[in-house]
Amino acid sequence: MIIAQQKPLEEIVESLASYKKVLVAGCGTCVTVCLAGGENEAKDMAAKLELIGHECEVVTLERQCDTEFIETLDEEVSKYDVILSMACGCGVQFMAERWPDTIVLPALNTSFYGVNRDVGYWTEMCQGCGNCLLALTGGVCPVARCSKSNFNGPCGGSQSGSCEVNDDTDCAWQLIYDRLKRQGKLDCLTKMMPVRSWQTSRDGGPRAIRRTDVNVEVEENE
Ligand code: SF4
Ligand code: SF4
Repeated sequence: MIIAQQKPLEEIVESLASYKKVLVAGCGTCVTVCLAGGENEAKDMAAKLELIGHECEVVTLERQCDTEFIETLDEEVSKYDVILSMACGCGVQFMAERWPDTIVLPALNTSFYGVNRDVGYWTEMCQGCGNCLLALTGGVCPVARCSKSNFNGPCGGSQSGSCEVNDDTDCAWQLIYDRLKRQGKLDCLTKMMPVRSWQTSRDGGPRAIRRTDVNVEVEENE
């Protein structure tokens, strides 16, 4: 899921300074799970903003990255001076795109694709490179989890299983080695990975996926 965290309150307050009526819009999916922008956080944010004089209403959409949910606000948005989106950057932009005359501001810093390891603890696992090679690396991603995104083994800074960047960060290549060894697949490490094309990643520009094999049957009202 997408992991995000709230911006410092002072930054949010400053961005809202010239607006009175605020729609605080929570998002019901990833940012709810990572306790950054769901219904509870949206209500909490609204309460804080009301203390400094804003008039707030709160709405929590199932997903702000999906037209079928944001379109439910089409008739509402003109009532507010600003929408404070508690979604990831996708939700903020999708709402801004839908209502060109409406100010939509972000309440979160969108951080990474990650997993929930413990209460209040998330770690990065994937960078959405568009060409997954986990089958070759024992299910450990060298793109996201090696600090240098090394593709053919560890750098010289790997020490006792930790990354040189931070003792608390596992060396991804140690994890890859340990896992391949356990699975009797160390031969994977003898195959040199070719120079990679990053065109499938961000380096190829903004990406889009269009499925032409998807047929959605729309039921017509009789
Ligand atoms: S190889 Fe690419 S798609 Fe696969 S987990 Fe890593 S970043 Fe994500
Ligand atoms: S120590 Fe390991 S994880 Fe850190 S940069 Fe080097 S190879 Fe990558």
